[in-house]
Amino acid sequence: MKVVLQELTKIFPSRTKKGQEVVAVNKFDFEIPDGKLVGLLGPSGCGKSTTLYMICGLQKPSSGKIFFGEDDVTSLAPEYRGVGLVFQNYALYPHMTVKQNILFPLQNFKGADRLSKSEMLERAYNVAKLVQIDELMDRKPNELSGGQQQRVAIARALVKMPRVLLLDEPLSNLDARLRLQTREEIKRIQRETGITTVFVTHDQEEAMSISDIIVVMKLGIVQQIGKPQSVYDDPVNLFVAKFLGTPPINVFQGTVKGGRLYIGEDNVLATPDVEDQEVFVGIRPEGFIYDKNGPLHCNLRNVEVMGRDVSIVSTSDASLNPTIRSIVDADNKIDTENQTVSFSLKPHKVFIFNKETEERIRFGNTASPAEVKE
Ligand code: ATP
Repeated sequence: MKVVLQELTKIFPSRTKKGQEVVAVNKFDFEIPDGKLVGLLGPSGCGKSTTLYMICGLQKPSSGKIFFGEDDVTSLAPEYRGVGLVFQNYALYPHMTVKQNILFPLQNFKGADRLSKSEMLERAYNVAKLVQIDELMDRKPNELSGGQQQRVAIARALVKMPRVLLLDEPLSNLDARLRLQTREEIKRIQRETGITTVFVTHDQEEAMSISDIIVVMKLGIVQQIGKPQSVYDDPVNLFVAKFLGTPPINVFQGTVKGGRLYIGEDNVLATPDVEDQEVFVGIRPEGFIYDKNGPLHCNLRNVEVMGRDVSIVSTSDASLNPTIRSIVDADNKIDTENQTVSFSLKPHKVFIFNKETEERIRFGNTASPAEVKE
């Protein structure tokens, strides 16, 4: 089921006369392709949850429309939309067993949708098997781990056979190991069911690893939509470039002069067709090549060994980050006696941005913005 958002907007009015209204979501336009997992990503307060709640019907849009397939569901009550919703805090009924929790939504089916007891049980056991909790059906929630409780919550959302599955920070309450495991599980379950899914998170690594498509938001405005790798490789502005990637992108003050990019005094790269101007320069950690004859000179702090790679930590007066992190292959023998470390750069890992608007300035080597192609 494709989900279409048309200029979807939510404005919360001010609570006081002098206060300001909050534009939580501003003209969100997007067609979520059928069967895809979309990650809504952005810092706290950017409008992710509000978008999700408008899709499920818990929040009424101020303007704009929502379609499930060809159906306009904008004014439809949540219970008629056919959505499954999973929250961060599981929200299981503590006095019910796992089985009763999963069966609960089916007991509210009315009229032609009503199921017999055996049909309900069959469905409950099928989804329990899918999320691998069928052995735990007689336990109460407090007898389960966090990860198991989240699986029950997912089973309870899936048992209704929703047209769209909505997940609001479903992994936040899990420890690091369980997060990793559960996110792989969610991906598997989504693949197996083929249900169009929207997943909200502020964790870029989580969104990148799980999503077919990511939507990066800031202050209610969509910044970029695309496949995770395309958005990482081809950010449209400094915000997106900084938001994606661990370790984060290194940002420098730079100058374009006569078709060349300078960082401090260092003439680092050709930037053909770019007008002379001051710019921000973003260099991905993997964009550095350790090269004693390279044009970019930094002050060496230390070298962290990470097995396959080493992370060279350095500083520079032109850097906007307190330290610069360069990830290079561990085969490089780094001269740690030297106080200066020099690099050449991989041009496709270097982005330049307008200093006022922070929009990307494209030069010869970089492709046009990433698009979602099916
Ligand atoms: P988080 O990751 O912290 O949950 P979010 O990206 O999900 O953040 P939203 O919860 O969608 O953000 O909030 C977007 C903006 O709308 C914020 O500025 C928030 O303060 C505001 N907002 C959300 N709900 C309400 C409300 N009921 N009344 C007024 N303002 C609200």
